[in-house]
Formats: sequence, C-alpha cells, structure tokens
Amino acid sequence: MSRRWLFADQLGPHFLDDRRQPVLLIESKAVFRRRVHHRQKAHLILSALRHRAAELGDQARFLRTETYAEALRKVREPLEVRHPTSRRALEFVRRRDGVTVLPPRGYLTSLEDFADWADDRRGALRMEAFYRFARVHHGVLMQGDEPVGGRWSLDTENRQPPPKQADRLDVPAPPMPKEDDIDAEVRADLDRWEREGIRFVGRDGPRRFPATAKEAKSRLRHFLRHRLAMFGPYEDAMLAGDPWMAHSLLSSSFNLGLLDPMEAIRGAEQAYRKQGAPLPSVEGFVRQILGWRDFVWHLYWYFDAGWQRSNALAARRSVPRWWTELDADAVDARCLSDVLADVRDHGWVHHIPRLMVLGNYALQRGWRPTELGAFFHTSFVDGYEWVMTANVVGMSQYADLGRMTTKPYVSGGVYINRMSDYCGGCRYDPKKRLGEDACPFTAGYWAFLARNRDRIPGNARMARAMKQMERLSDLDAVVAQEKQRGNDPP
Ligand code: SF4
Repeated sequence: MSRRWLFADQLGPHFLDDRRQPVLLIESKAVFRRRVHHRQKAHLILSALRHRAAELGDQARFLRTETYAEALRKVREPLEVRHPTSRRALEFVRRRDGVTVLPPRGYLTSLEDFADWADDRRGALRMEAFYRFARVHHGVLMQGDEPVGGRWSLDTENRQPPPKQADRLDVPAPPMPKEDDIDAEVRADLDRWEREGIRFVGRDGPRRFPATAKEAKSRLRHFLRHRLAMFGPYEDAMLAGDPWMAHSLLSSSFNLGLLDPMEAIRGAEQAYRKQGAPLPSVEGFVRQILGWRDFVWHLYWYFDAGWQRSNALAARRSVPRWWTELDADAVDARCLSDVLADVRDHGWVHHIPRLMVLGNYALQRGWRPTELGAFFHTSFVDGYEWVMTANVVGMSQYADLGRMTTKPYVSGGVYINRMSDYCGGCRYDPKKRLGEDACPFTAGYWAFLARNRDRIPGNARMARAMKQMERLSDLDAVVAQEKQRGNDPP
C-alpha cells in the first residue's frame, strides 16, 4: 500500500480510503516566510496539522522541515496524494517522481461533471444555474424532479435586516474549542518564529475554530440544533456587537478538509425533514456549500490561470498599509473600522462584511485585485487561493467584467445602513455624498460609476444607476472630493 501524503488542508478521515493506510504529513516553515499570515490562521493550520499527526500516531510519518522538497528528500517510498488545492502545489506534486496524484476530495461535484456542465453553457457561468444542476445531480432537497417547497431559491425570505433595537441575535453562542498542550506548543513556536523574523498580522487570541474532525463535527451538530433556524433570515445582516450572528463558523473546517461538506448538507436536510428546521434557512445553508463553495472551487480550475490576474476595470492603486496591517483604530468610518477590528481579532468576518464593506470599499477605490486577493487569502482563517480568486477577482472586484456575476457588487452607504446598526454611531451620514460628513461608501459609489462609465457601458443591470449618476449636478465635486480623500483611511 502506498503512503498517502496529506496536505494541511486534507486532514479529515474522508481523505483516507483505508483507515490503516500509512500517512505522510509535512509542516513547512517556508510557507509562513513567503507570505505574511494572520497569526490566528497560522495557529489554526499548525494546530490542525499537529493534532492530526497526534491522532494518527505511528501510522503517520510527520516531518517538520523548512520546505516540502526537503521533507520529500527524506522519503524513499512511493507516495499518493489527493489533487492539491492550488495550481502551484499541483504543479509541484506532478513534477515529483514516484508521486501519484488522485482526484480531489472535499468538494461535492467532480471536476469532470463540472466541466461537462460548464462546456454545455453558452456565455457566462452563473452560480444559480450550477446550484440547480448540483441539487438535481446530488439529489439534495429534492422531491422527485422538483425542489422541495416548489422553489429553488428562498432568498426572498432570507436576507433580512437585523432585528431592530437588538445588539446581538437571540441565538445560543457557538461552542468554542478548548485549547490543549498542542495549542500551547504551537503558540510557543509562533512566538519563537516571530523573534526569528517571521512576521504575522492580526492579534493572537484563543483558538476559535476547530482543529480536529471531532471539534468540527461538534460545532456542526450545535449549529444544526441551535443556530440554523436563525441563519437564513439574518445571513446578510450585520450587528456591531455580534461578530458571529447565526453563521455556522465551519468554513475553515471545510477548507482544512476536517469536515466532509456532504455530511453538513445531509445534516441540514435531515434537520428540515425530521426536526422541522425552517426550509429557507436550510436552503440558504445548502446553497452556500453545494452552490457557492463548489462553484468557486470549480471556476478556479475551469478558467485559465490568467483569470487570477484579470484587471478589466484598470484598478491601479496599491492596497494601503493601514488596511493590510488591519489598523482599525486609524479608521473613523464605523462599519469599516469595526470589520477591520473583527478581522484583526478573529481572522474572520462573514460574507457580507467581506463583500459589501471590505470588497465594496476596495472596488470603489480602484485597488489592484491581485493584491486584494492576497490580503483575503492570508488574513482570513478560511482563505485559500482557490476561494479568493473567484470571490475577489470574479465577484467583489468585477475584474473579469462578468464571467461569473451579472454586475459589480458596489453600493453606497444606504445598503450598509439598511443591513446593519453601524451608521447610527458613525461620524459620516450614509445619505450624504458631498462635504465633511459625506459617507465614504456613498461618495465612493458615485465616483466609481463615474470612473467606470466607459468600462461597463453595456451592463443592463447597471443602466439605471449610470443614468442616475449622469444626472447628478454635483458629480464633478464628488469625484474631486474622492480623489482628494485618496487612499487615506476614511
Ligand atoms: Fe459606514 Fe457610511 Fe454608515 Fe459610516 S455612514 S457606518 S461610513 S456606511
């Protein structure tokens, strides 16, 4: 039996076909020298890898080296490995003699089935169409040939603003993992690495995300029982005092390979069918995993490698240092300051702060998509190149002019005001676009449209906004104001 080499994002039991198969695990320090990671992300990866090595005991050979190549020089037997999750890693394993590359695991739809589906489509690829295909293909939330409840999407029931007057959602808090001796060793090693010159961003803190399959399953069970019902209606809402809302906090567990996504999907389906969980919440959760997560994984491989470098809106500004250093205290805009502080303190915020606060702000300022992608990749506990390419290049920055979305995800302060409690305590006014108290998101929205009027002229979904922009009597003044604000923290 060949030895199974498991990367640090292939750590769950479903990455082994035979429970007794010999395993190779490699911890490479060079990964953390090459890119500045969030301290809590580095902790989570090392903790998960070392916990897996401890679980496997003698079954695993665990090598801690500077590079992967150095570790592989010590291994003299044939290896097999599941398809890695980045182009760079795939190229690396394919170049090695004696290494067999097996199909990927940890995603629902296979590369071949996705390619067949995508090859049959004309024009742009859309998540909604893929999601419907995947629901039928995998028989998830189906009643014969029809979706249960008669509709594919229950988004209209979801996506509500936060409850009025609430500081936090009335839902049991997610259970946090208990740190152990392995975490203590990881923390001591990271402290030492920092003294040796390896740099991290963000604050250290108690580990909040699962590092073992057992912890991930326990978080899933708690979510399905106590939090799923509130997930759907408030999945897009933001409250300054509640960073977790009713989200599952399982994205890092899927992306580390600790949790099989189908287990989560079947669990949610069962919660609907047997425990009466509300269908909109269940459908919203399934959509995130079977739809969005698989879709962005497949686009990373289906599109050419150059897609990652798309920059069709000619965004030329560098991402500023106050942003990459997560300097929330430098920012007055309450929404942005709060979101940056959450990233600094937890290495995680949910999809709306990512898309409609961070991504929206960067899009308006014209920051380079590749730099922004690298920021999301290294600063979030669940960030990987395959996730962030689609989410940043394709979705939030519209850098490919709509290969996966129908319009740029750009909005003014009105959206943030509706979906959060941020604006009430902010020195800016979400309705104003000009003047000292002009909301940077509202002013930035109009300046973005003005700057890109010739680059996205034919987009039907933007036509109304473009017309409105052309009618603004103070447009030139708004554009000049935003130019002057430049890249300074708002
Ligand atoms: Fe954010 Fe503008 Fe609202 Fe302030 S007013 S919190 S900057 S959207």
